[in-house]
Amino acid sequence: MCPKTFQDLISEVHKKGICQECGGCVSFCSAADFDIIAFKTPHSPPDYIHKEKCLECGICYYICPQTHILNEELTKEYGFLNYSSMPIGHYCDIYSCQATDVDFLKHGTDGGVVNSILFYLIEQKLIDGSIVSKAEVPFAREAFFADSKEGLLKASGTQLYMAPHLQEIEKFSTYTHTISELNHYKFKKLAIVGTPCQIYTIRCMQHLGVTPSENVEFCMGLLCYENFFFDKTESKKFQEEFNISFEEIDKLNIKEDVILTLKLNNGSYKRISLPFNHLNDYVRQACKACTDFSNIYADISFGGLASPQNYTTVITRTKKGEEIFQNALRAGIIKALDLTNNKKAQMVNLIAQYSTKKVERKSKYMKKIINGSEKNYRKQESFKIREKV
Ligand SMILES: Cc1cc2nc3c(=O)[nH]c(=O)nc-3n(C[C@H](O)[C@H](O)[C@H](O)COP(=O)(O)OP(=O)(O)OC[C@H]3O[C@@H](n4cnc5c(N)ncnc54)[C@H](O)[C@@H]3O)c2cc1C
Ligand code: SF4
Ligand code: SF4
Ligand code: SF4
Repeated sequence: MCPKTFQDLISEVHKKGICQECGGCVSFCSAADFDIIAFKTPHSPPDYIHKEKCLECGICYYICPQTHILNEELTKEYGFLNYSSMPIGHYCDIYSCQATDVDFLKHGTDGGVVNSILFYLIEQKLIDGSIVSKAEVPFAREAFFADSKEGLLKASGTQLYMAPHLQEIEKFSTYTHTISELNHYKFKKLAIVGTPCQIYTIRCMQHLGVTPSENVEFCMGLLCYENFFFDKTESKKFQEEFNISFEEIDKLNIKEDVILTLKLNNGSYKRISLPFNHLNDYVRQACKACTDFSNIYADISFGGLASPQNYTTVITRTKKGEEIFQNALRAGIIKALDLTNNKKAQMVNLIAQYSTKKVERKSKYMKKIINGSEKNYRKQESFKIREKV
């Protein structure tokens, strides 16, 4: 039987509107020098560029996070038994941590823990650098390779390198194509920071032993409920609806809600909290067809949910992940709150609730796609911003 190919991804994934644009298929095909497919336009699924030369190897289909072909193999490999008993996947332990370095803490998204651990790995020469993402403007990030503290600080949460002409930007997306960046650094030992869809694809590549995953030493996974996409009309609508200006956004945190810290004209700061269910109109469509919240195939998962402000929730999953975490802790790179078993269980429960919510959302969304009512899926509840400060 012929393997399925990119043509099948078009009919089974793209046409349903559920391509997560993770870039896995394109990265493999171009890293293997086949060069059959590419992202022709930003914020759209990839497409053929040399269809007639396709080798029909089927790898793009196997590694796509929306085909789930390798689920069972990965589940065995990563010790993840079944969803109903383990909605957050297999894990070694859970922590609430903070960077001890003042720069990583000050500029970090939550506790500055991801960048602190990456810097520790670079200093220990366990990696040459990491694929990370820097914010060019609020709601728009770009992948890049960081191999120094300075580089990592550029990738921190609050270091917004504001584009001078924000109003001229046509489309904003919080999603970063970190996997595509791997192709440029095939001869280096790498860590990668990624969302669950991206880490899943990399694990599929590693399972099949295909390029460009061979040099990925560490997968640093971010918790991810959804990403946002705005075209010009939607960004205007968003700013009007929530009575904010993109220029004012100083920081974006994601916990039980999406929290924006605004720097106002008079120099003061204001935090506003936007509940997820009021942001439906701005969510990337494919994110509604995604089930992994807690990044179950990462070496370590990181999130804001379940930890206090300026702390990062850390879920160690693989032996390798737990080992580097413990070493970083012993070296004093990060510090952890002293949590009781009861508190840890509460954190796991909260993360499990979001994981389950995501699975239920996909099931509803796919029903809407099948019965053709998705276009009418708009926000219905009235909205009131919960002001924090
Ligand atoms: C798009 C997105 C959605 C998220 N959703 C949730 C959520 O629903 N619930 C939750 O609890 N936490 C979520 N998080 C994780 C949370 O916002 C923090 O990134 C996490 O707690 C780590 O904080 P930190 O201060 O330790 O990281 P830092 O030390 O500040 O390091 C963060 C690292 O992440 C990299 N990074 C930032 N954005 C991206 C991106 N888009 N793709 C790849 N790498 C990136 C940065 O370059 C940096 O290296 C999300 C993060 C992102 C980027
Ligand atoms: S050559 Fe292989 S990876 Fe590339 S598009 Fe064809 S089937 Fe997919
Ligand atoms: S591998 Fe990623 S980019 Fe390619 S079709 Fe699947 S979801 Fe889309
Ligand atoms: S919700 Fe997160 S993991 Fe899922 S498709 Fe969107 S960005 Fe990827």
